Amino acid sequence: MTTLLKNIRLTGKGIHSGLPVDIIIKPSKKPGIFFRRVDIDPKKLIAAKYDNVGETKMRNTTIGNPAGAHVQTIEHLMAALFISGVDSAIIDINGAETPIMDGSAALFIKEIASAGVGRGKICKIIVKKPVVAYTREVRRQLPLSMRIKLWIMDKLAHRKSDGFVKLSPNDGRGLEITATLIYPEKIIGAQTYNYSFDGTKKSRDNFIKQIARARTFGKYSEWEYLKKHGMGRGADETNVIALNNNGDGTLNKLMWRDEFVRHKIIDAIGDMALSGGMICGKLESYKGSHALNNIVLKKLFSDTENYDIIVEK
Ligand SMILES: [Zn+2]
Repeated sequence: MTTLLKNIRLTGKGIHSGLPVDIIIKPSKKPGIFFRRVDIDPKKLIAAKYDNVGETKMRNTTIGNPAGAHVQTIEHLMAALFISGVDSAIIDINGAETPIMDGSAALFIKEIASAGVGRGKICKIIVKKPVVAYTREVRRQLPLSMRIKLWIMDKLAHRKSDGFVKLSPNDGRGLEITATLIYPEKIIGAQTYNYSFDGTKKSRDNFIKQIARARTFGKYSEWEYLKKHGMGRGADETNVIALNNNGDGTLNKLMWRDEFVRHKIIDAIGDMALSGGMICGKLESYKGSHALNNIVLKKLFSDTENYDIIVEK
């Protein structure tokens, strides 16, 4: 296990709640990443694990404990901890949502680097058999009325609900991700990005240079709808790429033409970190989502024939 050398304090606001929130990321001797809701239930820890993931329909990843305490939008912070090699820490939080910061993983990574990271063993989860999660499986979990609504929306937009996330063996070479996004909005269109992480400084630096700063995104025209439904209340031009109503441009400047799919890599890494180790396998994400990432991990761990766990120095 590997932890931080000292505390990190951060203040920001939740992108969905819009509420101010403080976090302290603390070194820990207990293996695993845990959140602690200091505002309601400081005694009970919430393990950042795939089997504690609740609703993902809010377009983020939320974890909770059986007592009902939860923390939402943990994915960018989880990705930053994973890329920095931190697999053990306790995160004190005085609200229900991780601060969004600049909408990317960059600020978290910078803070982790300045706190310093110890050196410990790495827990590798080697994928031995392919597992796939399909969008239709996500849809099946939704209420019938919602499924019908989505079906109609797909028809009207000439959109296929054929997304999937697949994990397959790659001789333990590390986490090799290929993400593909397909959006009707011209500014996004079809984008594919490949990234591999094998725990080396080179692969970490590559993430920091090419991916970490990629921000989350949304359609400006949806903001009012989202706000009415308790989402996106903290979204603004400092933390979200806003697509214009025609879908052919953005209200704030893009860092890369394919910043959208680069951000999907952050989300996928953050969600894979909920495995509790370093997934070593090929991850194909085609029109992926947090819900698909979670289902694929549940499928992986549903059968011990699917994986091996190796602890390496
Ligand atoms: Zn994200």
